[in-house]
Amino acid sequence: MKKRVYIKTFGCQMNENDTEKMYILLSDEYEPTLNPEEADLILINTCSVREKPQHKVYSEAGRYKHLKKKKPELIIGITGCVAQQEGENIIKKLPYVDLVLGTQGFYFIKEALKTFTKTKKPVVFTELKSDFKPPLILEEKNFISSDKKITAFVTIMQGCDNFCSYCIVPYVRGRETSRPPEDILKEVEELVKKGVREVTLLGQNVNSYGLKEKGYPDFAELLNMVSQIEGLWRIRFTTSHPKDLSDRLIKVMAENPKVCHHIHLPLQAGSNKVLKRMNRKYTKEEYFKKVKKLRDAIPDIALTTDIIVGFPGEEKEDFEETLEMLEKVRYHEIFSFKYSERPFTVAQKFNDKIPEEEKEKRLKKVHEVQARITKEIYNSYVGKEVEVLVEGFSAKSKELLMGRTTTNVIVNFKAPRLDLKGALVRVLIEEAGKHSLKGKYLETLKT
Ligand code: SF4
Repeated sequence: MKKRVYIKTFGCQMNENDTEKMYILLSDEYEPTLNPEEADLILINTCSVREKPQHKVYSEAGRYKHLKKKKPELIIGITGCVAQQEGENIIKKLPYVDLVLGTQGFYFIKEALKTFTKTKKPVVFTELKSDFKPPLILEEKNFISSDKKITAFVTIMQGCDNFCSYCIVPYVRGRETSRPPEDILKEVEELVKKGVREVTLLGQNVNSYGLKEKGYPDFAELLNMVSQIEGLWRIRFTTSHPKDLSDRLIKVMAENPKVCHHIHLPLQAGSNKVLKRMNRKYTKEEYFKKVKKLRDAIPDIALTTDIIVGFPGEEKEDFEETLEMLEKVRYHEIFSFKYSERPFTVAQKFNDKIPEEEKEKRLKKVHEVQARITKEIYNSYVGKEVEVLVEGFSAKSKELLMGRTTTNVIVNFKAPRLDLKGALVRVLIEEAGKHSLKGKYLETLKT
């Protein structure tokens, strides 16, 4: 009988994708469980980008300490960004932790387990190689979930070279490195064979895919290559750094019918002074010029963004400029955060920090403004017919189906039959909610 592994994942889609890879790597010996109480191996896959990371990780690990008392052979590991950042310190603070594997180290989880089993000494692997190429890891069968997957994430690159002054990513995920195109194509082909119809290509800055490697396609070309895979209907990607968004990419987005009409283009702030201190390498005027190009080429494109409020030195007038940009660009949705300090970063040393209370006020204002804009945009869908890729049942009711438009808006809808998972259908939008739309099924376009 196989042993059982439980993985708790924090953070972004890339971390979720890394968790899937660990499940696959461990699949010879372990099967996944959703219950930590019955696990033989517990892994906490951590994120230090947006969370209060150490604190969260330590309290999460604390929950499993008592399990180890009951079952001394239980192995506990910390992986991902916090493991990378903290290394040996984790073992000092949490002596019951057996494995600490960083953002490249987790690929060696099997070797780390072997070493631990042999030596019974904690294994720490936090080396970051600049020429590291993540191995091709394919899921042989659907063992992570017995459910048929319709959408999937595929990591195309790791790390980042941009060093935005607030961001820890270059320090914990290392320098940018792109996966070989043939590995990416193979992974997507395998997913499609299993029924996946939509892939999201992941990277910290997908727009610089392949630029550092000899003989690799650039990102626009990679999109065209992936789109040739038969049976794949839709391609999404995230994240795009605005400074690297090329005319070539906009052209491919406009012309390639498989590329979805949605782009996540992090603005972060609307003031040029703040953008400069953030080291974002674009002005708000340059950013808006790209938005205009996107809209000229793809009139129905949906934009989403990230906003940081209360960056050190952000004065009231700077903040007003962020609100102006929200009104000007009119994003479908935004992800907004209060600035918070990260170790190693340049911004950590800035003295002109904004009081917590003021950050809170600004965040509230951003939410207010954006909620109105999202509502107006979502209302404009009412009465329109949209194409929806059905992902399964709605989270709200088992009598409704759920899918997304090409613009990445969630649609819940009634249909005469409920076995439409994986189909592309046409839906008439009848109602707009805060973060989703509601409609009725019209016809099936593709199965
Ligand atoms: S582009 Fe900037 S914010 Fe994004 S991962 Fe790189 S350093 Fe961080």
